[in-house]
Amino acid sequence: MDSAEYERKIAARFASFDQDHNGYIDREDFSGAAKAVLAEFGTTARCDKGQALYAGAEAFWQGMAGIADVDGDQRVTREEFVTGAVKRLRDSPQRFAEIARPFLRAVIAVADEDGQGPTVASAERVLRVLGVGAELAGIAAAALDADGDGRIAEAEILAAFAGYFTTPAPDA
Ligand code: CA
Ligand code: CA
Repeated sequence: MDSAEYERKIAARFASFDQDHNGYIDREDFSGAAKAVLAEFGTTARCDKGQALYAGAEAFWQGMAGIADVDGDQRVTREEFVTGAVKRLRDSPQRFAEIARPFLRAVIAVADEDGQGPTVASAERVLRVLGVGAELAGIAAAALDADGDGRIAEAEILAAFAGYFTTPAPDA
């Protein structure tokens, strides 16, 4: 991978966290993601699933800030993300998945409309509401169903999440 491709991939990962596109990652991006997912599935913030999702979003933000908010201003800039987070995510994607796990688990609970686990279609709705383009969301949701049973399991999501953040370093 050349450095231009590496930069492009890092930019895409930063953008996936900077949900409101204001140029930095902060708590609002995580709570906003929780709010958007709840709205998509008609779930209230007050119910158990809603509260778990907001709690997971806060834990995810705290984990991200712990890794990447070098100057402690409660904002993760692109520079902090690149210098602080990316290397550590690359070194320990599984640990990052652990930070995200409560949030991901809560998203699964909201998207699981019949108690059998989220369908591929539900996963696509989640990805779209989190800003993934329509075409890519369909492809990514299908890819999440690694064992092809039509349902998305927590292990499949965690594995995909860790893989997404296992960004190889540029060759240079
Ligand atoms: Ca933001
Ligand atoms: Ca900062």
